[in-house]
Amino acid sequence: MNNVIRAVKGTHDLYGEQLRAHKHITDTARRVLESAGAIEVHTPIFEETQVFEKSVGASTDIVRKEMYTFSDRGGRHLTLRPEGTAGLLRAYIERGMKVWPTPVRLWTSGPMFRAENVQRGRQRQFHQVDYEVLGLESALIDAETIELMVAILRELGLESLKVRLGSVGDPEDRLRYNHYLRELLSPVQQRLSDDSRDRLTLNPMRILDSKNQGDREVLADIGVRPMLDFLGPAAMAHFEEVKELLEQFAVPFEVDPSIVRGLDYYIRTAFEVQHDRIGARSALGGGGRYDGLSETLGGPRVPAVGFAFGIERLLIAMQEDNLPTPSGYVLDLYLIPLDAEAVTETAIIASKLRPTLHVESAFSPKRPGKGLQEASKRGARFAGLLGKEEQKRGVLAIKNLETGEQADMRLEQVVGFVSGRQV
Ligand code: AMP
Repeated sequence: MNNVIRAVKGTHDLYGEQLRAHKHITDTARRVLESAGAIEVHTPIFEETQVFEKSVGASTDIVRKEMYTFSDRGGRHLTLRPEGTAGLLRAYIERGMKVWPTPVRLWTSGPMFRAENVQRGRQRQFHQVDYEVLGLESALIDAETIELMVAILRELGLESLKVRLGSVGDPEDRLRYNHYLRELLSPVQQRLSDDSRDRLTLNPMRILDSKNQGDREVLADIGVRPMLDFLGPAAMAHFEEVKELLEQFAVPFEVDPSIVRGLDYYIRTAFEVQHDRIGARSALGGGGRYDGLSETLGGPRVPAVGFAFGIERLLIAMQEDNLPTPSGYVLDLYLIPLDAEAVTETAIIASKLRPTLHVESAFSPKRPGKGLQEASKRGARFAGLLGKEEQKRGVLAIKNLETGEQADMRLEQVVGFVSGRQV
C-alpha cells in the first residue's frame, strides 16, 4: 500500500455520517437565512488573486501566507477562495445587484482553502456558511445579523454559546490606533516575529491577532490599550446602539474591547461567536461591518455587514454538546431473486418502484435465508423475494424485517404496503 495516492494534507473526503452532518448544517442555515429573505449565490471557487489581495488585505496572514495562488495556462493570477465575502461582493457589483430592493441579503456555502497548520478544527480545505446584507448602515442590521447567526446555532441545538462583541471603529479611528500601536511597539520590535515587524509598517493592528507565541508574550508584557478606547463619537454611538438592540433581540453577549478580526476590511462592528468547550482561539464564526469593501473592489459605496462560520468547527461543537446528527439513507426494500431467471426481473421491478421507494436489488440469485441476511445487513425495512412460484403468480413475497410478517402481493400493492399506506 506504500504507493497508494492519498488525499492532500488538511483535506478530507466527506461521506456517510459526516456528509449528512454537513448537509444538516447547510440545510438549517438555508432555512433560517431564507426565512429572513436571503438569496443563495454560488460564486466560483477561484477568483482573480486581486479580489482577495484587495479585500482581505495585504497585511493579513491569509494573504501573506495562506492563499493557494497559481497562474493558469493563460498567465492569469488566480487564487482558490480563502473566504466567501470578497467573491460575494465581487458578484454583487458585477451583476448589478445594487438596484435590487434594499437591503440585499446574500448567502452562500461551500469549500474554502487556506494553507494553515493542520490541527483539530483547522484544515486546508474547510467549509463555511456565509451571509452578507448589503445596502444599509443602520445598527439594526448589525444586530439582526448577529441574531441570525445565533439563531442558526440555536436551531442546531448548540448551547454554551458566547457572542463577543467589539468595534474596530471608523477608518480615522484606526489610523489613530495604528499610530498608537506603532509608537508603543517600535521600541520592542526586535522581540517581534518577522511578520509582525512587517506589520508594524503595513498595519500594526494585525499584530494583535498574530498566532506567534513570542508576539503574544510581547503584547502581554507591554499591556496594549484596546481599540475600543480609540473610537470616535460616530463609531461609539453606533456601537452603543448595536448593544442596546442586541438586548432587545434577547441575544446575550459580552463586550470584548480587544476584538480584532483577521481580515482588513472590517469597520465598526466586529464579533465572534465561541463555544465554551472549544475556546477563544477557535471561534465557531464571526463577522462584522465592512462599508468600504465595495469601493475597494471598484464598485459603488455600499454599506455591508455579514458573518461566516465554519461547518467543521460547528460539528466539533455539536459533538461536544452530544447533539445527534440526522440519520441517513433508509433502504425501504431489498429485492432478492431466488434463481437466475429472476435477476433481471427484480432489477426491473426496482426501477419501477423508484423513486417512490428506496429500492435495491441483488444482482445474483440467493437462497432465501442468505438473501434475508443481506437485506438486514443493509438495514432494509422490507425484503421482497422473487422465485419461480412468485413469477408464475405475478406476485412478490414481501417480508417485514422488523415484525417478520410476510405476504404475497402484486407490484401495485407493494408501494402502499411498504410505505405504510396499506393494501
Ligand atoms: P474567518 O473567515 O477567518 O473569520 O473564519 C470564520 C470561521 O471559519 C472560523 O470561525 C472557523 O469556524 C472557520 N475557519 C476558518 N479557518 C478555518 C480552517 N483553516 N479550518 C477550519 N475552519 C476554519
